[in-house]
Amino acid sequence: MLTIRLDTSKKKVPLYRQIYEQIKTKILEHHYLPHQQLPSKRDLAKELSVSVNSVNNAYQQLLEEGYIYSKERSGFYIEQIDSFNQQVMSKPLHQDLLEKDEKPLNHWISFSHMATDTMQFPFDRWVHCEQRVIKHSREQMNNIKHPQGLYSVRESICRLISLTRGVKCFPEQIVLGAGTHFLMQMFIRLIPENSTVSMEDPGYNRIYTFLKNEQVNVQTFGLDDKGASISDIRRLNPNVVYITPSHQFPTGRLMPIARRVQLLNWAMESNFRYILEDDYDSEFKYESDTIPALQSLDTFEKVIYMGCFSKSLMPGLRVSYMILPQHLLYVFRKKYADFFQSCSVLTQLTLQEFIDSGEYQKHIKRMKQLYQERREMLMLALETRFGDKMKIEGANAGLHFRITFETERTTEHILKRAKEEKIELYSMNPFYLTNPESNQGPSFVLGFAKLPKEHIDEGVNRLYRAIYG
Ligand SMILES: *Cc1c(COP(=O)(O)O)cnc(C)c1O
Repeated sequence: MLTIRLDTSKKKVPLYRQIYEQIKTKILEHHYLPHQQLPSKRDLAKELSVSVNSVNNAYQQLLEEGYIYSKERSGFYIEQIDSFNQQVMSKPLHQDLLEKDEKPLNHWISFSHMATDTMQFPFDRWVHCEQRVIKHSREQMNNIKHPQGLYSVRESICRLISLTRGVKCFPEQIVLGAGTHFLMQMFIRLIPENSTVSMEDPGYNRIYTFLKNEQVNVQTFGLDDKGASISDIRRLNPNVVYITPSHQFPTGRLMPIARRVQLLNWAMESNFRYILEDDYDSEFKYESDTIPALQSLDTFEKVIYMGCFSKSLMPGLRVSYMILPQHLLYVFRKKYADFFQSCSVLTQLTLQEFIDSGEYQKHIKRMKQLYQERREMLMLALETRFGDKMKIEGANAGLHFRITFETERTTEHILKRAKEEKIELYSMNPFYLTNPESNQGPSFVLGFAKLPKEHIDEGVNRLYRAIYG
């Protein structure tokens, strides 16, 4: 009566599973009447030449999911299940939601400013740290309930940035999060509603559009040769100024001490003014020592420091953090008491081990040297190839600089040609937040972190062809 066909060659699908699937499908397609009795387990087993156990398992599963019900000393019956109101057909995905799995661009040369050189990352050391964590800290793997991240991890980060960035804080003030956007989202809920945030223009477009989409009042101010224009900021009168003082994103300028003091003074004039310092790539400084963070000058709890391991280690780790002034920490603790930490515990603890064992500093030292060499080679190759037809700015820190070319070609044309030449190239236009057309140029952000030395000459040749060829 059930007309079940078993496929004994399909070793991968157990017999009970096949019986279950076939009965289930027939019930959903209303091949049976509601409350119709099913054959006894013994009868069905005999009919199908399988063990009673297989039928029993199938019936148990159907029972569990509610497709059938049992009556004591009587047997099993089909449950009454309504038909779907609409025809059940799996909907195709809308064309504009379609995604393509992004394959690595083989044989391309990358001038990306968002990537690090994963070939150079000491994965063996990292795995070693991870193994130690797994050996000694298993019980921690359940521990997601501290909204700010594990305390011991924050202690290590605290020691590290005090040393490398001059940042002054207690581990209690550190909030870990899986990326700057995530932290920004939390931060904007800590400050008064209707706050206005002002940003550098050109600036970090991803944060700009994010804030806009979050319905935050965002404005932009221009840059002069010292960075953020104080007169613009005074005119806009925001609550929060979001800046990248160590290596302005994307122009690469360094904010001199005079301007830093002016900004702090501006912030101190009112209780509700803050400076958000995005210190994303400051581990890498060339031709001079690193400059201490703006936060290190702040004794008035005006600066919210944001740091990450995306440029110093790799973006895929997704470990970033912010440091809250104590009065905002109260707000955070109240508002986010029930939040789970967004960074993986295993990654947090591995990072801690990586820092505490000295591997982090070793890696930075090595990469600084390597990036320095690439940067110099790249600048030299550009100079040789382009001569005075190009201008480089903001090359003293970080993993990218700005380059402007003398050409009649439009940005679109150059980007199209770059694709044909198989180079990953990013225009400055999107970073002009309010008016992409105001990019005098055409100019581009040229990253050198993912650019091995042996690719530099070829990369510059391709770039030349993209612009003049
Ligand atoms: C890379 C980068 C960050 C860090 O972003 P995460 O999401 O924390 O990885 C922040 N600001 C700028 C300008 C950056 O380039």
